[in-house]
Amino acid sequence: MKTGIHPEYRRAVVTCACGNTFETGSVKEHLRVEICSACHPFFTGKQKFVDTGGRVDRFRKKYKIEAKS
Ligand SMILES: [Zn+2]
Repeated sequence: MKTGIHPEYRRAVVTCACGNTFETGSVKEHLRVEICSACHPFFTGKQKFVDTGGRVDRFRKKYKIEAKS
């Protein structure tokens, strides 16, 4: 490997939007991510369901489905 042409590979601190931090290897010192293994629904088992613009409500009204509460 030639010297001087490769960026330095070092330990990087990754900061997630959920507040979790972990270390990885990168040419950058700090990385910011919006989702990580601590808060991703796949790993947490929780599914965030976002009903954008009341699409579900309109569907329920169209087919006269009562919302179970
Ligand atoms: Zn996270």
